[in-house]
Amino acid sequence: MTLIPGDGIGPEVTEATLAVLEAVGAPFDWEEHKAGMAGLAAAGDPLPKATIESIRKTRLALKGPLATPVGGGFRSSNVRLREEFHLYANLRPARTLIPGGRYEKIDLVLVRENLEGLYVGFEHYIPIGEDPHAVAIGSGVNTRAGGERINRFAFEYAVQNKRRKVTLVHKANVLKALTGLFLETGREVAKDYAAKGIACEDMIVDACAMKLVMNPWHFDMIVTTNLFGDILSDLNAGLVGGLGMAPAGNIGKDAAIFEAVHGSAPDIAGKGIANPGALILAACMMLDHLDDHARAGRIRKALAAVVREGKTVTRDLGGTANTDQFTDAIIAAL
Ligand code: NAD
Repeated sequence: MTLIPGDGIGPEVTEATLAVLEAVGAPFDWEEHKAGMAGLAAAGDPLPKATIESIRKTRLALKGPLATPVGGGFRSSNVRLREEFHLYANLRPARTLIPGGRYEKIDLVLVRENLEGLYVGFEHYIPIGEDPHAVAIGSGVNTRAGGERINRFAFEYAVQNKRRKVTLVHKANVLKALTGLFLETGREVAKDYAAKGIACEDMIVDACAMKLVMNPWHFDMIVTTNLFGDILSDLNAGLVGGLGMAPAGNIGKDAAIFEAVHGSAPDIAGKGIANPGALILAACMMLDHLDDHARAGRIRKALAAVVREGKTVTRDLGGTANTDQFTDAIIAAL
Protein backbone atom coordinates (compact mmCIF):
# COMPACT_ATOMS: atom_id res chain seq x y z
CA MET A 1 0.00 0.00 0.00
CA THR A 2 1.11 3.54 -0.62
CA LEU A 3 1.30 5.87 2.36
CA ILE A 4 1.37 9.64 1.87
CA PRO A 5 1.71 11.36 5.27
CA GLY A 6 1.20 14.75 3.57
CA ASP A 7 1.64 18.25 4.98
CA GLY A 8 1.03 20.12 8.23
CA ILE A 9 -0.61 17.82 10.77
CA GLY A 10 -0.48 15.00 8.16
CA PRO A 11 2.61 13.22 9.58
CA GLU A 12 1.23 13.47 13.15
CA VAL A 13 -2.18 11.97 12.35
CA THR A 14 -0.54 9.38 10.06
CA GLU A 15 1.74 8.18 12.87
CA ALA A 16 -1.30 7.83 15.14
CA THR A 17 -3.22 5.93 12.46
CA LEU A 18 -0.32 3.52 11.86
CA ALA A 19 -0.11 2.81 15.59
CA VAL A 20 -3.83 1.92 15.68
CA LEU A 21 -3.53 -0.26 12.56
CA GLU A 22 -0.56 -2.04 14.07
CA ALA A 23 -2.51 -2.65 17.27
CA VAL A 24 -5.18 -4.59 15.31
CA GLY A 25 -2.52 -6.41 13.27
CA ALA A 26 -3.59 -4.89 9.94
CA PRO A 27 -1.45 -6.57 7.30
CA PHE A 28 -0.25 -3.52 5.35
CA ASP A 29 3.20 -3.33 3.82
CA TRP A 30 3.60 0.43 3.34
CA GLU A 31 5.54 2.26 0.62
CA GLU A 32 5.92 5.79 1.97
CA HIS A 33 5.88 8.67 -0.53
CA LYS A 34 5.61 12.43 -0.57
CA ALA A 35 3.11 14.83 -2.15
CA GLY A 36 1.88 18.39 -1.59
CA MET A 37 4.39 20.88 -0.13
CA ALA A 38 6.50 17.92 1.07
CA GLY A 39 6.64 16.65 -2.53
CA LEU A 40 7.53 20.09 -3.83
CA ALA A 41 10.39 20.39 -1.34
CA ALA A 42 11.72 16.89 -2.02
CA ALA A 43 11.21 16.50 -5.77
CA GLY A 44 10.21 19.93 -7.13
CA ASP A 45 6.67 18.68 -7.85
CA PRO A 46 3.66 18.57 -5.49
CA LEU A 47 2.84 15.21 -7.08
CA PRO A 48 6.22 13.50 -7.69
CA LYS A 49 6.51 10.74 -10.32
CA ALA A 50 7.62 8.21 -7.69
CA THR A 51 4.36 8.78 -5.76
CA ILE A 52 2.25 8.23 -8.90
CA GLU A 53 4.25 5.12 -9.85
CA SER A 54 3.80 3.66 -6.36
CA ILE A 55 -0.02 4.09 -6.47
CA ARG A 56 -0.07 2.63 -10.00
CA LYS A 57 1.60 -0.46 -8.57
CA THR A 58 -0.16 -0.81 -5.19
CA ARG A 59 -3.56 0.55 -6.41
CA LEU A 60 -4.34 1.54 -2.84
CA ALA A 61 -3.27 4.59 -0.85
CA LEU A 62 -3.85 6.19 2.53
CA LYS A 63 -3.25 9.91 2.27
CA GLY A 64 -2.83 12.73 4.76
CA PRO A 65 -3.89 16.26 3.84
CA LEU A 66 -1.96 18.01 1.08
CA ALA A 67 -1.45 21.76 1.06
CA THR A 68 -1.67 23.37 -2.35
CA PRO A 69 1.30 25.65 -2.98
CA VAL A 70 0.13 29.24 -3.44
CA GLY A 71 1.20 30.86 -6.72
CA GLY A 72 3.38 29.20 -9.38
CA GLY A 73 0.28 27.89 -11.16
CA PHE A 74 0.30 24.60 -9.20
CA ARG A 75 -2.89 22.62 -9.56
CA SER A 76 -4.23 20.85 -6.50
CA SER A 77 -2.46 17.49 -6.06
CA ASN A 78 -5.78 16.04 -4.86
CA VAL A 79 -7.46 16.95 -8.16
CA ARG A 80 -4.46 15.62 -10.13
CA LEU A 81 -4.64 12.31 -8.23
CA ARG A 82 -8.37 11.98 -9.00
CA GLU A 83 -7.72 12.61 -12.69
CA GLU A 84 -4.58 10.44 -12.94
CA PHE A 85 -6.33 7.38 -11.49
CA HIS A 86 -9.88 8.15 -12.73
CA LEU A 87 -11.16 8.14 -9.16
CA TYR A 88 -14.72 8.78 -10.25
CA ALA A 89 -16.51 8.08 -6.95
CA ASN A 90 -16.13 10.07 -3.76
CA LEU A 91 -17.58 8.11 -0.87
CA ARG A 92 -18.48 10.13 2.23
CA PRO A 93 -20.14 8.35 5.15
CA ALA A 94 -21.56 10.40 8.05
CA ARG A 95 -22.35 8.59 11.29
CA THR A 96 -23.19 9.89 14.76
CA LEU A 97 -20.31 9.05 17.09
CA ILE A 98 -21.03 11.34 19.99
CA PRO A 99 -24.46 11.07 21.59
CA GLY A 100 -26.14 14.19 22.90
CA GLY A 101 -25.35 16.28 19.82
CA ARG A 102 -27.92 18.02 17.71
CA TYR A 103 -28.87 14.80 15.91
CA GLU A 104 -28.79 11.22 17.17
CA LYS A 105 -28.37 8.02 15.18
CA ILE A 106 -27.37 9.50 11.84
CA ASP A 107 -26.04 6.90 9.42
CA LEU A 108 -25.83 8.38 5.95
CA VAL A 109 -23.63 7.60 2.95
CA LEU A 110 -23.17 10.14 0.18
CA VAL A 111 -21.68 9.20 -3.18
CA ARG A 112 -20.38 12.17 -5.13
CA GLU A 113 -19.40 12.08 -8.81
CA ASN A 114 -15.75 13.16 -8.66
CA LEU A 115 -14.61 13.91 -12.22
CA GLU A 116 -17.37 15.61 -14.23
CA GLY A 117 -20.01 18.34 -13.81
CA LEU A 118 -19.18 21.97 -13.16
CA TYR A 119 -15.73 21.04 -11.77
CA VAL A 120 -14.19 20.29 -15.18
CA GLY A 121 -12.88 23.86 -15.08
CA PHE A 122 -14.13 25.06 -18.49
CA GLU A 123 -14.19 28.69 -17.45
CA HIS A 124 -13.25 32.01 -18.97
CA TYR A 125 -13.83 35.74 -18.79
CA ILE A 126 -14.99 38.03 -21.58
CA PRO A 127 -13.51 41.52 -21.32
CA ILE A 128 -15.70 44.50 -22.16
CA GLY A 129 -14.15 47.94 -22.49
CA GLU A 130 -11.77 48.54 -19.59
CA ASP A 131 -13.08 45.61 -17.52
CA PRO A 132 -11.18 42.34 -18.17
CA HIS A 133 -13.67 40.46 -15.99
CA ALA A 134 -16.87 41.96 -17.33
CA VAL A 135 -18.43 38.54 -18.03
CA ALA A 136 -17.59 35.15 -16.51
CA ILE A 137 -18.59 31.97 -18.30
CA GLY A 138 -18.38 28.41 -16.97
CA SER A 139 -19.61 25.19 -18.53
CA GLY A 140 -20.24 21.81 -16.95
CA VAL A 141 -19.85 18.43 -18.60
CA ASN A 142 -21.81 15.33 -17.65
CA THR A 143 -21.73 12.21 -19.80
CA ARG A 144 -24.12 9.27 -20.04
CA ALA A 145 -21.18 6.93 -19.35
CA GLY A 146 -20.17 8.94 -16.27
CA GLY A 147 -23.77 9.05 -14.99
CA GLU A 148 -24.20 5.30 -15.41
CA ARG A 149 -20.85 4.60 -13.75
CA ILE A 150 -21.50 6.69 -10.61
CA ASN A 151 -25.10 5.53 -10.23
CA ARG A 152 -24.10 1.89 -10.65
CA PHE A 153 -21.34 2.40 -8.07
CA ALA A 154 -23.90 3.79 -5.60
CA PHE A 155 -26.43 0.99 -6.12
CA GLU A 156 -23.74 -1.72 -5.99
CA TYR A 157 -22.47 -0.19 -2.75
CA ALA A 158 -26.06 -0.25 -1.44
CA VAL A 159 -26.39 -3.98 -2.17
CA GLN A 160 -22.98 -4.89 -0.77
CA ASN A 161 -23.43 -2.83 2.40
CA LYS A 162 -27.04 -3.82 3.06
CA ARG A 163 -28.44 -0.33 2.63
CA ARG A 164 -32.10 0.14 1.76
CA LYS A 165 -32.61 3.29 -0.34
CA VAL A 166 -30.75 5.55 -2.75
CA THR A 167 -31.87 9.15 -3.30
CA LEU A 168 -30.86 10.65 -6.67
CA VAL A 169 -30.18 14.36 -6.08
CA HIS A 170 -30.33 16.75 -9.04
CA LYS A 171 -31.52 20.13 -10.32
CA ALA A 172 -33.11 18.90 -13.52
CA ASN A 173 -35.94 21.46 -13.29
CA VAL A 174 -33.42 24.21 -14.17
CA LEU A 175 -30.21 22.54 -15.41
CA LYS A 176 -32.30 20.33 -17.64
CA ALA A 177 -29.50 18.87 -19.76
CA LEU A 178 -26.59 18.86 -17.31
CA THR A 179 -28.32 17.29 -14.36
CA GLY A 180 -31.27 15.90 -16.35
CA LEU A 181 -28.87 13.40 -17.94
CA PHE A 182 -27.62 12.36 -14.50
CA LEU A 183 -31.23 11.82 -13.34
CA GLU A 184 -32.12 9.89 -16.52
CA THR A 185 -29.17 7.51 -16.07
CA GLY A 186 -29.88 7.14 -12.35
CA ARG A 187 -33.50 6.14 -12.94
CA GLU A 188 -32.37 3.63 -15.59
CA VAL A 189 -29.74 2.05 -13.31
CA ALA A 190 -32.23 1.92 -10.39
CA LYS A 191 -34.48 -0.47 -12.37
CA ASP A 192 -31.76 -3.15 -12.17
CA TYR A 193 -31.72 -2.93 -8.37
CA ALA A 194 -35.43 -2.84 -7.49
CA ALA A 195 -35.53 -6.64 -7.40
CA LYS A 196 -32.48 -6.61 -5.12
CA GLY A 197 -34.43 -4.64 -2.53
CA ILE A 198 -32.88 -1.21 -3.08
CA ALA A 199 -35.54 1.51 -3.20
CA CYS A 200 -34.94 4.64 -5.25
CA GLU A 201 -36.34 8.16 -5.08
CA ASP A 202 -35.23 11.45 -6.60
CA MET A 203 -35.11 14.90 -5.08
CA ILE A 204 -34.18 18.42 -6.18
CA VAL A 205 -30.99 19.60 -4.47
CA ASP A 206 -32.48 22.60 -2.65
CA ALA A 207 -35.32 20.52 -1.21
CA CYS A 208 -32.76 17.87 -0.26
CA ALA A 209 -30.62 20.42 1.64
CA MET A 210 -33.65 21.50 3.67
CA LYS A 211 -34.78 17.95 4.33
CA LEU A 212 -31.28 16.90 5.45
CA VAL A 213 -31.49 19.53 8.20
CA MET A 214 -35.17 18.98 9.11
CA ASN A 215 -35.27 15.19 8.93
CA PRO A 216 -31.91 13.56 8.08
CA TRP A 217 -33.24 10.11 9.03
CA HIS A 218 -35.33 10.21 5.86
CA PHE A 219 -32.14 9.45 3.92
CA ASP A 220 -30.06 6.29 3.68
CA MET A 221 -27.78 6.90 0.66
CA ILE A 222 -27.50 9.91 -1.63
CA VAL A 223 -25.91 9.90 -5.08
CA THR A 224 -25.34 13.18 -6.84
CA THR A 225 -23.21 15.24 -9.22
CA ASN A 226 -19.85 16.81 -8.37
CA LEU A 227 -20.79 20.31 -7.10
CA PHE A 228 -23.94 19.25 -5.22
CA GLY A 229 -22.00 16.35 -3.69
CA ASP A 230 -19.23 18.66 -2.53
CA ILE A 231 -21.71 20.89 -0.71
CA LEU A 232 -24.06 18.23 0.67
CA SER A 233 -21.24 16.02 1.96
CA ASP A 234 -19.97 18.88 4.13
CA LEU A 235 -23.55 19.51 5.26
CA ASN A 236 -23.75 15.84 6.29
CA ALA A 237 -20.43 16.12 8.16
CA GLY A 238 -21.93 19.10 10.01
CA LEU A 239 -24.89 16.95 11.09
CA VAL A 240 -22.52 14.64 12.99
CA GLY A 241 -20.16 17.17 14.53
CA GLY A 242 -18.01 18.68 11.77
CA LEU A 243 -14.98 17.81 9.67
CA GLY A 244 -12.75 16.67 12.58
CA MET A 245 -14.04 13.10 12.30
CA ALA A 246 -14.96 12.96 8.60
CA PRO A 247 -13.28 10.37 6.35
CA ALA A 248 -13.55 9.96 2.58
CA GLY A 249 -12.69 7.42 -0.09
CA ASN A 250 -11.83 8.33 -3.68
CA ILE A 251 -12.53 5.21 -5.67
CA GLY A 252 -11.95 4.28 -9.32
CA LYS A 253 -11.60 1.15 -11.41
CA ASP A 254 -7.82 1.06 -11.07
CA ALA A 255 -7.10 2.57 -7.65
CA ALA A 256 -8.61 3.81 -4.40
CA ILE A 257 -7.28 6.56 -2.16
CA PHE A 258 -8.58 7.05 1.37
CA GLU A 259 -8.15 10.31 3.25
CA ALA A 260 -9.33 12.61 6.01
CA VAL A 261 -11.65 15.34 4.75
CA HIS A 262 -9.89 18.09 6.73
CA GLY A 263 -6.84 19.99 5.49
CA SER A 264 -3.28 20.33 6.78
CA ALA A 265 -4.32 22.61 9.70
CA PRO A 266 -1.17 24.81 9.56
CA ASP A 267 -2.32 26.65 12.71
CA ILE A 268 -1.77 23.58 14.90
CA ALA A 269 0.84 21.66 12.86
CA GLY A 270 3.81 20.35 14.86
CA LYS A 271 2.11 20.94 18.22
CA GLY A 272 1.07 17.31 18.72
CA ILE A 273 -2.57 18.23 19.44
CA ALA A 274 -4.31 17.27 16.16
CA ASN A 275 -7.26 14.88 16.24
CA PRO A 276 -6.26 11.75 14.26
CA GLY A 277 -9.90 10.47 14.20
CA ALA A 278 -10.67 11.32 10.59
CA LEU A 279 -7.60 9.54 9.19
CA ILE A 280 -8.21 6.57 11.49
CA LEU A 281 -11.77 6.34 10.14
CA ALA A 282 -10.38 6.66 6.58
CA ALA A 283 -8.15 3.66 7.37
CA CYS A 284 -11.31 1.80 8.49
CA MET A 285 -12.90 2.59 5.10
CA MET A 286 -9.76 1.16 3.47
CA LEU A 287 -10.09 -2.03 5.55
CA ASP A 288 -13.79 -2.26 4.54
CA HIS A 289 -12.74 -1.80 0.90
CA LEU A 290 -10.52 -4.87 1.37
CA ASP A 291 -13.44 -6.77 2.98
CA ASP A 292 -11.64 -6.73 6.34
CA HIS A 293 -14.83 -5.64 8.13
CA ALA A 294 -13.79 -7.27 11.40
CA ARG A 295 -10.73 -5.06 11.92
CA ALA A 296 -12.57 -1.95 10.66
CA GLY A 297 -15.40 -2.63 13.12
CA ARG A 298 -13.04 -3.17 16.05
CA ILE A 299 -11.27 0.16 15.42
CA ARG A 300 -14.56 2.08 15.00
CA LYS A 301 -15.89 0.60 18.21
CA ALA A 302 -12.76 1.52 20.19
CA LEU A 303 -12.68 5.05 18.75
CA ALA A 304 -16.39 5.55 19.51
CA ALA A 305 -15.94 4.28 23.08
CA VAL A 306 -13.09 6.75 23.76
CA VAL A 307 -14.99 9.65 22.18
CA ARG A 308 -18.19 8.80 24.08
CA GLU A 309 -16.36 8.55 27.38
CA GLY A 310 -14.98 12.01 26.60
CA LYS A 311 -12.10 11.84 29.09
CA THR A 312 -9.14 11.41 26.76
CA VAL A 313 -10.09 13.32 23.63
CA THR A 314 -8.38 16.14 21.75
CA ARG A 315 -9.29 19.81 22.14
CA ASP A 316 -11.49 20.02 19.05
CA LEU A 317 -13.67 17.36 20.75
CA GLY A 318 -13.79 19.34 23.98
CA GLY A 319 -10.97 17.53 25.79
CA THR A 320 -7.40 18.28 26.81
CA ALA A 321 -5.57 15.20 25.48
CA ASN A 322 -2.82 15.47 22.92
CA THR A 323 -2.61 13.28 19.79
CA ASP A 324 -0.51 10.59 21.51
CA GLN A 325 -2.77 10.35 24.59
CA PHE A 326 -5.90 10.10 22.42
CA THR A 327 -4.23 7.42 20.28
CA ASP A 328 -3.06 5.44 23.33
CA ALA A 329 -6.61 5.53 24.72
CA ILE A 330 -7.98 4.10 21.46
CA ILE A 331 -5.32 1.37 21.49
CA ALA A 332 -6.16 0.58 25.12
CA ALA A 333 -9.87 0.34 24.22
CA LEU A 334 -8.98 -2.15 21.47
P1 NAD B 1 -8.11 22.82 7.55
O1 NAD B 1 -9.07 21.68 7.54
O2 NAD B 1 -6.67 22.47 7.43
O3 NAD B 1 -8.29 23.65 8.92
C1 NAD B 1 -9.52 24.28 9.31
C2 NAD B 1 -9.57 24.40 10.86
O4 NAD B 1 -9.84 23.09 11.40
C3 NAD B 1 -8.25 24.85 11.49
O5 NAD B 1 -8.53 25.68 12.59
C4 NAD B 1 -7.61 23.56 11.95
O6 NAD B 1 -6.75 23.72 13.06
C5 NAD B 1 -8.81 22.70 12.30
N1 NAD B 1 -8.52 21.26 12.06
C6 NAD B 1 -8.46 20.62 10.86
N2 NAD B 1 -8.15 19.33 11.03
C7 NAD B 1 -8.02 19.14 12.36
C8 NAD B 1 -7.71 17.99 13.16
N3 NAD B 1 -7.47 16.79 12.61
N4 NAD B 1 -7.62 18.16 14.51
C9 NAD B 1 -7.87 19.35 15.09
N5 NAD B 1 -8.18 20.47 14.38
C10 NAD B 1 -8.25 20.36 13.03
O7 NAD B 1 -8.54 23.83 6.39
P2 NAD B 1 -7.77 25.08 5.76
O8 NAD B 1 -7.06 25.84 6.84
O9 NAD B 1 -8.78 25.75 4.90
O10 NAD B 1 -6.68 24.45 4.77
C11 NAD B 1 -5.28 24.33 5.08
C12 NAD B 1 -4.56 23.66 3.90
O11 NAD B 1 -5.07 22.33 3.70
C13 NAD B 1 -4.72 24.39 2.56
O12 NAD B 1 -3.46 24.38 1.89
C14 NAD B 1 -5.71 23.51 1.79
O13 NAD B 1 -5.51 23.58 0.41
C15 NAD B 1 -5.38 22.13 2.32
N6 NAD B 1 -6.51 21.16 2.24
C16 NAD B 1 -6.21 19.90 1.85
C17 NAD B 1 -7.22 18.93 1.83
C18 NAD B 1 -6.88 17.52 1.39
O14 NAD B 1 -5.71 17.22 1.18
N7 NAD B 1 -7.84 16.63 1.27
C19 NAD B 1 -8.52 19.26 2.21
C20 NAD B 1 -8.80 20.58 2.63
C21 NAD B 1 -7.77 21.53 2.64
